[in-house]
Amino acid sequence: MHTISRVSRHTTFFDVLETLTKPGCVICTLVARTRWRYLDALAYENVNDYGLRVKLREARGFCNRHAWYFVETTREVFGAAIIYRDVLHTILHAAAAGDVNGLDPSGICPTCLVEWEAASNYLQVLAEALDEPDMGTAYEQSDGLCGPHLLSAMSLLRPLLRQKVLERTLAIWQRRGDDPARMRWQATGAEGNFSTDSMALAMPDPDAPATPLVVPNDQFTCPVCTASQALLAEPVTWASLADADGGLCNVHAWHADVRVLCSLFTRQITAIDKRASALAASTENRGWLRAAVRELTQAPVRNEPEPLPSRCVVCRRVGALEVAMAADPQLKPLCLPHLRRAITQRGVSALEAMKPIWRELDYLLGEYLRKEDYRFRGEPRGQEQKSPRWVVALISGAPGIR
Ligand SMILES: [Zn+2]
Ligand SMILES: [Zn+2]
Ligand SMILES: [Zn+2]
Ligand SMILES: [Zn+2]
Repeated sequence: MHTISRVSRHTTFFDVLETLTKPGCVICTLVARTRWRYLDALAYENVNDYGLRVKLREARGFCNRHAWYFVETTREVFGAAIIYRDVLHTILHAAAAGDVNGLDPSGICPTCLVEWEAASNYLQVLAEALDEPDMGTAYEQSDGLCGPHLLSAMSLLRPLLRQKVLERTLAIWQRRGDDPARMRWQATGAEGNFSTDSMALAMPDPDAPATPLVVPNDQFTCPVCTASQALLAEPVTWASLADADGGLCNVHAWHADVRVLCSLFTRQITAIDKRASALAASTENRGWLRAAVRELTQAPVRNEPEPLPSRCVVCRRVGALEVAMAADPQLKPLCLPHLRRAITQRGVSALEAMKPIWRELDYLLGEYLRKEDYRFRGEPRGQEQKSPRWVVALISGAPGIR
């Protein structure tokens, strides 16, 4: 007996089928692979690609998550120096013209777009093929989707498919029980796959204590970033967690001690379950129509991940600290995210203080790039060697703060 396949069996289909045999969320694994390949190719071939450089200028560099992935995981410090010097020039031009809006991005991080597109494609293929015997069985034996990708599926798929994916995923979640490590990725996605909770940053925690100021020991490091990072290094064990209704974003879930946070993840998974069921039953739809348009036009579509129903408690604390510190006119230099906040709170004087710091950094970057040239390799190395990391932190923020 043979079945006639409704689903065309192409590379994406087999990618999904094969990845389902691995532990964790299948979409998270495939998105992580897409990110690695995209940034690796960018490092080797495309740093000088004109169109891509324009996009990176418009986005004012990579987002925080992808900036540090490019520097620390792809290990492309030289490429980062080229890209961020370009962005620095754009910002210096805007500042010279007194154009405060020129500090803001006019485009999206290109790596985020690539990830969103990949997640949408893989989710679509998985859902369409769930009735195929091999895909159906493989999914049932897998770890299922993580919460964030379940929510994306509920917004992205057409109504008939949503129910199918929801039921099968919840059945897997039930069977798999509540191992703490599993609950973490189930609540927030695999490590590094999503950014911090921008909605939580917009509503700072009113009970956040004033954190002592940690002073950075160089002239190019943002003190607000340094203080935020010190806050992230503290274990998340506040009493207020017990009765709050917050959760954790992907970034901060992977900073924290997983054993302490089990009750937080349980709460978060329950909230996701509820939200996913509501989305599955809802006629309102954002992602689904966009996906349908993409099928017809083949144009790339910007399907941002669905926001998690629980606001990140750490992001809210960091947000409160940022608001308090950005009001202080003595603090400099400020990274771009914190400079924007300072300008909102106390006007363009914050921008003036940054101009000489950016120009100095531009000079150091020029020296760094010059000394990478084989003709000057013999010259002694100095503090310009730190300039690529300084510029990435000063434009995209220190690791983990966004
Ligand atoms: Zn996932
Ligand atoms: Zn990004
Ligand atoms: Zn900062
Ligand atoms: Zn967070």
